[in-house]
Amino acid sequence: MDIDTPKHQGQRQHLIEVLRDKGILDENVLKAIGFVPRHAFLDSSFEQFAYRDAAFPIRAKQTISQPYTVAFQSQSLELKRGSKVLEIGTGSGYQSAILAELGFKVFSIERQKDLFDFSKTLLSKLGYNITQKFGDGFKGMPAFAPFDGIIVTAAAPSIPLDLISQLSENGSLIVPVGDQNNDQVMMRIKKSEFDGYSKEELGNFRFVPMLKDIESGDGF
Ligand code: SAH
Repeated sequence: MDIDTPKHQGQRQHLIEVLRDKGILDENVLKAIGFVPRHAFLDSSFEQFAYRDAAFPIRAKQTISQPYTVAFQSQSLELKRGSKVLEIGTGSGYQSAILAELGFKVFSIERQKDLFDFSKTLLSKLGYNITQKFGDGFKGMPAFAPFDGIIVTAAAPSIPLDLISQLSENGSLIVPVGDQNNDQVMMRIKKSEFDGYSKEELGNFRFVPMLKDIESGDGF
């Protein structure tokens, strides 16, 4: 893993200002962006661009989300330290690290073995304590439910109902919904008292598609 240099730290401070200008106002999220060495999550050929506000290819034909998107989804949870958060689509592990820096108890699922192995090794090397599962994110992690927040980091064709059922009272699901050929709409589905749900649209984003029909790893 590449070491963190003053140059990287300076680039992260710059990235924080870029995100602030784009409307990320949660200071805890901005602080977390300032802590996590994003360059360690990228292939070495992209390392020099790690602190641009852009998505990049990672292994298994997937992408590491744009910092703005990671910050936006994290901020949209509106949760306090100590909350339980489930992420669908661990990918590089960058979003998981940001959630851990926010003081959340983090759970994350990835369906590609290659990325599951990569992110598991990297996150533990960086000292993050995250419960990771190799398997199908559509199913969530019922054994650890309920969650105060669930973030889906791939485009879902529709709102995943199994995930909704794993929300705690007042918990939110942040999920980009739509087909893969267009932008998706970021939805926030909040569970309220007496089994009611509220639904909000938070803006348009573009994600890689959530994939179905895999041989799942041995789940929890
Ligand atoms: N959060 C990641 C973004 C990764 S891109 C990061 O910070 O780098 C989306 C990820 O979702 C990919 O790694 C992809 O393999 C994964 N994915 C797609 N469908 C999935 C599913 N059904 N279950 C779990 N992960 C899935």
